[in-house]
Amino acid sequence: MTKSLLLYLSESNGFKNFLTRFKSFNNVTHRFVAGEDVAEAVEAIRQLNRKQISASFDHLGESIRAESETRQEVREYTRVLDQIEKNGLDSNVSVKLTQLGLDIDEELCYENARAIVEAAARYQNFVRIDMEDSTKTDPTISIFKRLRREFDNVGIVVQSYLYRTETDVKDLLQIGARIRLCKGAYKEPETVAFQDKADVDKNYIHIMKILLASGIYHGIATHDEKMIAATRQFAEEKAIASDQYEFQMLFGIRRDLQEKLVKEGYRMRVYVPYGEFWYPYFMRRLAERPANLWFVFKNIFKG
Ligand SMILES: Cc1cc2nc3c(=O)[nH]c(=O)nc-3n(C[C@H](O)[C@H](O)[C@H](O)COP(=O)(O)OP(=O)(O)OC[C@H]3O[C@@H](n4cnc5c(N)ncnc54)[C@H](O)[C@@H]3O)c2cc1C
Repeated sequence: MTKSLLLYLSESNGFKNFLTRFKSFNNVTHRFVAGEDVAEAVEAIRQLNRKQISASFDHLGESIRAESETRQEVREYTRVLDQIEKNGLDSNVSVKLTQLGLDIDEELCYENARAIVEAAARYQNFVRIDMEDSTKTDPTISIFKRLRREFDNVGIVVQSYLYRTETDVKDLLQIGARIRLCKGAYKEPETVAFQDKADVDKNYIHIMKILLASGIYHGIATHDEKMIAATRQFAEEKAIASDQYEFQMLFGIRRDLQEKLVKEGYRMRVYVPYGEFWYPYFMRRLAERPANLWFVFKNIFKG
């Protein structure tokens, strides 16, 4: 119930305006967001790299509806790729297609995505296309496939809560796609997605096994210790070395586990969001763990 409400509020501008009236609320967002500008994200990534953790920059923004703003996103990502190179960071970038114009025009979105992937290719860097809600799955896969025909430094995300994911994964593996597996963060109806955590988890493990057995380098994105244990066990059974895949987590979540896995010899990449448009991202993080609400309220009223 709380989870659904928080996901609903993640799309509400009214609630956003209400929350941001509390000055101290902006401090709370720093728990999950590296900062508002790229310099803060660079610093956060530098600190992660010192702990042998690699990263993925995410410039926060989604559902953009003005063409000029989508071009601005391309410039921002190009700047980020320059910063990675200049600072010698161990990081790639993650991007959402609605940030690049998917809600405006698919061709515009493709061109913008292509420009970012091409800029990354010049630095031998990599672009991960995030997966958004289920109305975006088909166009996201279609744009990804067009890019993949030309570039091999681009990857995609699949969500284990969707019924369709096994079919998508088998199709994507045919073209050698590098895939990030996650559970899925949006509110989806039961016509398209499992509603029970047990089913989402079962499908996660099923898909993880297909990915690891494929011989392609994939990202296993989760903070769930059961998913991590299942991945480690499967890899061990099939003699898949720990450098043949990577675990991925979100900035500020289970930092203890991130460091522990690195110490145990596993690869870890942390997704580092930054930027002014943190609100929907932040609300989805609260929805994943409503216990975080306590942390939020405590800090709002402290300030
Ligand atoms: C690197 C990365 C990239 C992602 N990219 C996408 C994407 O492109 N599209 C998409 O739909 N989703 C994406 N997600 C989000 C994902 O779908 C899940 O919503 C999120 O990871 C929570 O699921 P979980 O696997 O951690 O398991 P859960 O079952 O949700 O959580 C397991 C445990 O992890 C901890 N935990 C999880 N979330 C939180 C939190 N917010 N705060 C504190 N503790 C927490 C808790 O201890 C919890 O018990 C991404 C996640 C990661 C890690």
